[in-house]
Amino acid sequence: MLLSDKSLKLTKKRLEVLERLGLHTADELLSYYPVRYDIINEKPFETWQLKERVVFEGEIVKEARSWRKGNLTSTTFEVMAYDHVLKITIFNRPWAKGLVLNQIVTITGIYMGGNKVTAMNYDTKPISEHDKASPVYALKEGIQQRTVRDCVAKVFESVENEIYDIVPEEYIRAYRLLRKSDALRRIHFPENENDIRLARRTLKYEEFLKYFTAIQYMKQLDFGGAYKSPRVFSEKKMDALESSLAFALTPDQKKALDDILKDMSSSKPMYRLVQGDVGCGKTVVAALSLYAAVLSGYQAALLAPTEILARQHFESLNAILKDTGIHIEVLYSGLASAEKKRIIKDTSDGKTDILIGTHSILQDEVTFRNLGFVAADEQQRFGVEQRRTLREKGHQVDFLLMTATPIPRTLASTFFGDMDISTIETMPPGRQAPVTKAIFENSFRSVLDEVKEILNDGHQLYVICAAVEENEAYNARNVYDTAEALGKLFCGYHVGILHGRMSSDDKQNVMQEFYENKTQILVSTTVVEVGMNVVNATGMIIYDADRFGLSQLHQLRGRVQRGSTRGRCWLLTGNKEDTAKERLNVLVRSNNGFEISNEDLRLRGPGDILGTRQSGLPDFILGNIVEDTGIIKTAREDALKMIENQDNPDYAAMLDSVREYCGSNAGFAD
Ligand code: ADP
Ligand code: MG
Repeated sequence: MLLSDKSLKLTKKRLEVLERLGLHTADELLSYYPVRYDIINEKPFETWQLKERVVFEGEIVKEARSWRKGNLTSTTFEVMAYDHVLKITIFNRPWAKGLVLNQIVTITGIYMGGNKVTAMNYDTKPISEHDKASPVYALKEGIQQRTVRDCVAKVFESVENEIYDIVPEEYIRAYRLLRKSDALRRIHFPENENDIRLARRTLKYEEFLKYFTAIQYMKQLDFGGAYKSPRVFSEKKMDALESSLAFALTPDQKKALDDILKDMSSSKPMYRLVQGDVGCGKTVVAALSLYAAVLSGYQAALLAPTEILARQHFESLNAILKDTGIHIEVLYSGLASAEKKRIIKDTSDGKTDILIGTHSILQDEVTFRNLGFVAADEQQRFGVEQRRTLREKGHQVDFLLMTATPIPRTLASTFFGDMDISTIETMPPGRQAPVTKAIFENSFRSVLDEVKEILNDGHQLYVICAAVEENEAYNARNVYDTAEALGKLFCGYHVGILHGRMSSDDKQNVMQEFYENKTQILVSTTVVEVGMNVVNATGMIIYDADRFGLSQLHQLRGRVQRGSTRGRCWLLTGNKEDTAKERLNVLVRSNNGFEISNEDLRLRGPGDILGTRQSGLPDFILGNIVEDTGIIKTAREDALKMIENQDNPDYAAMLDSVREYCGSNAGFAD
């Protein structure tokens, strides 16, 4: 149900607030679980420890006064609590002025020693009227906890009777889980810590069960257990191509290629993931595999998430396969229509051996004479349905996925256990890691000289922003303002602008200009993450770096690790919290994608590496893939059982929900 549904009676203003949090349906709002709870745990003043979080009630004995210093407001007042006068300071609450003498307040804050408390929150209710555990939601600037809590309460009340269980009865009983509506009630409105524990246990299980059911379901879509005729190709020709390369394959590349060729020669359709850090050389492995497919008498397709990447692959493949006489085409929406028609015709006639392309390949009008092999680059950006569409253009095709998002080994076997995996861990020789610095200020003032040096030396610069324009849902440096400022600062250099909302022609032109060094500074969103290979660009500035996942930052900086000049990368953020520091310092310290995603997991939970956007799979809101191994194992087995017994009516609700999910999750992202 949409949150705007009349029956929910949410005001326009509230709907706007929820919109800013990305919440559009009742389901989404009710799944917007609190990130933590403020637990009221009153302790006598005498036992307070320095820097400890404390909650207490007091009476105001000295009225509030506020100061303003720069953009910081500081308000102080005094309360009598536990027979002591405590001095309370609260920052950035100019409206705190209303605190008057003799008012009873409940304060949550940090004890700073010497009868001083820095308050995080306060209200004018006695402590006895407070819930023992109050939920705290992840919010954006200017949104109040209370608003979200009220919306959740209102919506929950309206839909409570329509919340049904998707976990089968059999499992609810076996594991003594809560009913879904009960679990939601307790997670949003807990009366005690036990409520939270029970609710989490149920919701986590549901999350994992849904995830594994989706995986099993996709796997089933992917092959349905059929057999293919083993591919037969000339090893001599394969060897000849390999030795014609400008370099020797690394042992990991060899192993990955070997795995693929073995799969192709077997009677089971291949379903393999090749994972390896940016720049480890996945393209050449794919090129050799595509060649093997053509040698065995089939057509092959290579799917890329963006037009830029498709064109780049076209160039690389042409270079690698130039002496083989095979016919390669690239198809994307920006082509002239006569050219598109010709390529489509050549492909259906079988004249095209390898068709590279973006999602244009998925259109109905594109058909193959005998498609036998499909490779997809950066697979996480393709939805399940899209993958299926492409595969169905052939018959029992071999399927190869390539990703630069490394999944730690321990997790890969649990979460991608249904896919075969090859890992390219070592980099080609001579690659130099970019020098990375974390700067805890959202401005590059302190490295201006180094940046100038890059430009003076004739090199180019990427500048990455989290937002496209001002007025985004959140407050981050944006592409347009940044480009304008840099244009003034570095007059004499040309500044280009790139983001996902531009038309594909415009994007292409901007990239081309940067590629030809007509622009020296490219201000961009993360669209450059995949698909830019500009050897002369050696510097990268990333604003608001704390807003990106570590793996994503690592992929971004891979753009300045292309040539022989050592790249430099600056991670800027105004966030001075310890966790932000710890996270960014991982990138300063390490250039190993696997190590980085491991650390990211440890510091932040799984959302980033297995997030919806990156893996095309459900994101875990509550589940922790490192800690919840017990639930994971159970849920995985249960999911398999459900897939094997799909006509059991008890499983219908979950299976329907998974089918719906897999069908809708087919969006492109850039
Ligand atoms: P990615 O894995 O990110 O797709 P690419 O396939 O684009 O990486 O390879 C990055 C660069 O490394 C390319 O310029 C490619 O020619 C080069 N390369 C790949 N394999 C080797 C190798 N074994 N030795 C030297 N250079 C290599
Ligand atoms: Mg690549």
